[in-house]
Amino acid sequence: MKFLCVVCDEAMKVAEIPSPSSGDALTVVFRCPGCGHQVALLTNPWEAQLVRSLGVAIGGRSAPPAPLELVRATLTEARLLWTEEAERRLERVPEFVRSVVRKSIERYARQQGCREVTPQVIDEAKADMGM
Ligand SMILES: [Zn+2]
Repeated sequence: MKFLCVVCDEAMKVAEIPSPSSGDALTVVFRCPGCGHQVALLTNPWEAQLVRSLGVAIGGRSAPPAPLELVRATLTEARLLWTEEAERRLERVPEFVRSVVRKSIERYARQQGCREVTPQVIDEAKADMGM
């Protein structure tokens, strides 16, 4: 799940990390790295649970096991989580190649059966690509 800034066509980044208590309503603030525009995603407790179950990388945490495991398995089969540190590493990559690098790393991670992209996975992927 991503929010795109309609002005910049940039993927918005999580600007505010929501409170970790599960079962509560959730507010996530996304910020456009281009123009600084912000949007807030407000969910009720059920939606918050759904969002967590879908493995959305809110604040870089991986989703805890949830009753909606089946939904997650079917909807996010090809989806990988990036840890906060891994995202920061990716941000150092020049913008014009970032999406390509991201795809390459995710392809490698999937080949390795990883469900999460960590700095270590990035290093391994780079080594694998001869970088
Ligand atoms: Zn923008």
